[in-house]
Amino acid sequence: MYLPQPGDYIDIHVHGGSPASGIFILESLMAHEEKLPVDVSGVAYTYGIHPWFLNEENHKQLISCVENAVIQAEIIAIGEAGFDRLRGPSPELQRRVFEEQIIISEKILKPVVIHCVRAWDELLAVHKKLRPKMPWLIHGFRGNVELADQLLTKGMFLSFWFEFVLRPESRNLLRHLPADRIFLETDGADVDIRSIYNKVSTDLDMSVDELKSIILKNFNKCLIG
Ligand SMILES: [Zn+2]
Repeated sequence: MYLPQPGDYIDIHVHGGSPASGIFILESLMAHEEKLPVDVSGVAYTYGIHPWFLNEENHKQLISCVENAVIQAEIIAIGEAGFDRLRGPSPELQRRVFEEQIIISEKILKPVVIHCVRAWDELLAVHKKLRPKMPWLIHGFRGNVELADQLLTKGMFLSFWFEFVLRPESRNLLRHLPADRIFLETDGADVDIRSIYNKVSTDLDMSVDELKSIILKNFNKCLIG
């Protein structure tokens, strides 16, 4: 298993990425793809059922893929898992499969990376019902201060949608949030994680090196425990 080293840029949510010198990636494997981790330097993995690719026919089989895969050391978190109001099966099926993944996370003591689109009430309801002890990391976040605060009170970590965080107007939200709960990601898009670090470190009046060491600490707290 590989973990980020001091000085690394950490890209916390990637699909189909390849590590580069000085860049550590957390590659998100989706159960329906039937891919498994490869032991490559600079990469760790998450594994889960993405709500878009879930249906009544495949969900039982996908759950057993998750159960089998996540015991591997290279897989350091469950996910991405969660809710999408705009795409995917019924909210009821999304909720059932999400809850099953939370139960697995609590059992094997690995955190969860979450995909959530316009379904914050559903997400918070599951949090209230299952009272998870493992951290939840929201990826692709682009909400407002109020929503961010609500998620932070539940102990969650936030990784920002790259397009949002590169916009000048995200500065206010970034400055409002506690830096010890944030992550940055490319989501596998054609954008350089180093330019995201540059933009965010400027917003936060700190050097890129300071931001790197904060995010490494967050990584160790959230994903290694
Ligand atoms: Zn993703």
